Amino acid sequence: MNNVQNYKSLPIVGQGGLVFLYLCDMKKYVDVIVPLPIAGQYTYSLPEGWDEKVKEGCRVVVPFGRKKYYTAIITKVHETPPEEYETKDVAEILDERPVLLARQYAFWKWMADYYLCTLGDVYKAALPSGMKLESETVVVYNPDFEAVEPLTEREQSVMNLLSSETEQCITQLEKSSGIRQILPVIKSLLEKEAVKVKEELKRSYKPRTEARVRLTPGMQDEEKLRGLFDGLARAPKQLAVLMKYIELSGWGTSGTDLKEVTRKSLLEASGASSAILNGLTGKGIFELYYQEVGRLAKGVCNTVSLNPLNPAQQQAYYSVLSLFATKNVCLLHGVTSSGKTEIYIHLIDQVLKSGKQVLYLLPEIALTTQITERLKRVFGNRLGIYHSKFPDAERVEIWQKQLSEQDYDVILGVRSSVFLPFRRLGLVIVDEEHETTYKQQDPAPRYHARSAAIMLASMFGAKTLLGTATPSIETYYNARQGKYGLVELTERYQNIRLPQIELVDIKELARKKRMTAQFSPLLLQKIREALEHKEQVILFQNRRGFAPMIECRTCGWVPRCRNCDVSLTYHKGMNQLTCHYCGYTYQVPKSCPACGGVELVNRGFGTEKIEDDIRTVFPEARVARMDLDTTRTRTAYERIIADFEEGKTDILIGTQMVSKGLDFDRVSVVGILNADSMLNYPDFRSYERAFQLMAQVAGRAGRRNKQGLVVLQTKSPDLPLIHQVMANDYFRMYSEQLEERELFKYPPFYRLVYVYLKHWKEDVLDQAAELMASCLRKGLGERVLGPDKPPVSRIQTLFIKKIVVKIELDASLVKVRAYLQQVQRFLTEDERFRSLLVYYDVDPM
Ligand code: ADP
Ligand code: ZN
Ligand code: ZN
Repeated sequence: MNNVQNYKSLPIVGQGGLVFLYLCDMKKYVDVIVPLPIAGQYTYSLPEGWDEKVKEGCRVVVPFGRKKYYTAIITKVHETPPEEYETKDVAEILDERPVLLARQYAFWKWMADYYLCTLGDVYKAALPSGMKLESETVVVYNPDFEAVEPLTEREQSVMNLLSSETEQCITQLEKSSGIRQILPVIKSLLEKEAVKVKEELKRSYKPRTEARVRLTPGMQDEEKLRGLFDGLARAPKQLAVLMKYIELSGWGTSGTDLKEVTRKSLLEASGASSAILNGLTGKGIFELYYQEVGRLAKGVCNTVSLNPLNPAQQQAYYSVLSLFATKNVCLLHGVTSSGKTEIYIHLIDQVLKSGKQVLYLLPEIALTTQITERLKRVFGNRLGIYHSKFPDAERVEIWQKQLSEQDYDVILGVRSSVFLPFRRLGLVIVDEEHETTYKQQDPAPRYHARSAAIMLASMFGAKTLLGTATPSIETYYNARQGKYGLVELTERYQNIRLPQIELVDIKELARKKRMTAQFSPLLLQKIREALEHKEQVILFQNRRGFAPMIECRTCGWVPRCRNCDVSLTYHKGMNQLTCHYCGYTYQVPKSCPACGGVELVNRGFGTEKIEDDIRTVFPEARVARMDLDTTRTRTAYERIIADFEEGKTDILIGTQMVSKGLDFDRVSVVGILNADSMLNYPDFRSYERAFQLMAQVAGRAGRRNKQGLVVLQTKSPDLPLIHQVMANDYFRMYSEQLEERELFKYPPFYRLVYVYLKHWKEDVLDQAAELMASCLRKGLGERVLGPDKPPVSRIQTLFIKKIVVKIELDASLVKVRAYLQQVQRFLTEDERFRSLLVYYDVDPM
């Protein structure tokens, strides 16, 4: 094949007379990543004359497969056509400036490599949907759209199509409009906010708004106001409200901006009824306006100065700084409520002064209005928030902003914010570093945000600070080994005492029939006292739903999911059975299908059952429940927290969600209903996790003005774990676990890679798994365990087998990875295993 497409000859007048110089104009090619889980990159040719415009990191539209178009990202511009296939032309260039920066690309490559997935997987996870349109993307009509400038003809025809059917996938729009290159048209409509990309329902998030009061523009003048005072002389109640407003807003105090006054605070401070305030707005004196709270507020923002650190915090702060001189990673191990966040704020401030950026990571569930507002107060508009439950359009906006000159200096975000474009990263903070939700489970890339953050920081020569009250065993080990710096903060802010923990043996009590539902007499008594003193209670149970399962009393039959190998959970509110793996729901059978018996009984108890029972025992208490079922949307979650914060709820019942770094003032009692239920998972981390959960949940008790109480109910009061929790003895737990981990070859002494195989036919799967394991053993020997059936061995109609690979820390990971992939290729080339799925979980949680 001839590379050279055409020549242009130009006459050039040189010293020696007329010389012909042949400028050969080579055809240009681009290598791109497509958002698909395929290994390798694809080469496309550029139509003539386009080469001026393309840059590495820019997005292009490319045809792929039959009549499908995808948004791809250029990784290389070159002049070598591929040997194996005829190239197709790039269909469109979407960006003038790169959206993928060189360092980010390096980070993507590291991730694909380390976590054994493809660059396409990483690309899919990294960019918000609106930035990677493809033929299957569903576009939604925005009924509120008003055009500022006329739409183009093509845009208008897409809008016309969407107005009759408001949700359509791009392929369909392409077909009905007859527009051949529709992706750029959709992109432009998205930018004009005329359309949106469809997102799952759970993402619909409406910002919280707050009503505020101000003088109407006509009234904002000294003279007018004076006139008003006279005018209101015969309406003293209205006058009082006006006076109060002037006081609250700081009117007339030398030249400062007016403070915003909420409707609520004005009514409270003046003691007036809303009718009186309405009277004033009716007269055109006041007007109401609504302000978004807890989300990227636009406009100027007044900030306050930093809280001074107390001596212990000050010392920790300096230790972190001085350790950073020699270590890239540092662990701040501070008890709950010791002021770790305050220390972060001081460090961020320091880094910003040097002109660098900070990434502050939090687990999704801990990223609440509480922490957002705390940081917003200090960093104002320099703070950006990146949450997976924000609408896609907003995430696209943040991404674009980070590429612009007006980028945020601080990003507070969840796991996926490691993918945002940074240019001046100086520090990454990983708060609650022990949280297992930092690990992405499905789909690929199955990355751990903590490891990814450390890698990202190192690519910038930046530092990483890990913070927690209950470090993961791996992190603590790294710190004690000197790989990470270690700073310990052992006192709580203002020396509030850690809660007192009372142990209750519920097995014994159950035998004596002294339990009321799941509650011991001590717990009930403490709840009652708390309610009498207008204090709050948190009840923790690690399972949601009403009952983990139902069972036939006669024959022991248990209903299971048709698609997955698990028993179903009974949800009383919806009166149905649900599979927590695939989400499938079932009718509750009226009788047992096995024996016809009609007595189906509940086994175990979940949060929903506890809520039910607590309402029966304390009918006058205000009760709320926080678990996956009640927090499908971000608003729902924030509302539960806000109500509890504002004292509108007396008893909060929840799963591990209630343990996530929330800071409540009035909680005096925390009940852990069944400590043992946390230990029943067949996982080498269950012990560590149970300790972390209980320590964190206990930390919610008695934060500010008095020592809290934790009632710890268990059937096995002699377990060492229980005593470690009671003594808050992290080190003891750590040492014990470390011995076991070494003995049984687990992290931090060995690295784990789980190999998963999935197929819809069980016998094919068994063959494939046996073959894969035996191939792996040839190269890796004893390091390979299995194949085994995982605890849940069928999900969504696919059977699953798992092979475990344990690798010594000093073995070459590169070689192991290469070997795994080699074996996988061998297997998938076999005709029998064509529809076999193979994937890896590196450093599984
Ligand atoms: P942690 O992150 O360790 O759980 P926080 O930083 O949330 O602790 O602090 C717990 C509470 O104490 C917060 O309400 C915080 O505002 C307050 N606090 C901690 N340190 C200070 C300080 N130096 N100045 C003022 N308030 C502080
Ligand atoms: Zn039965
Ligand atoms: Zn299922």
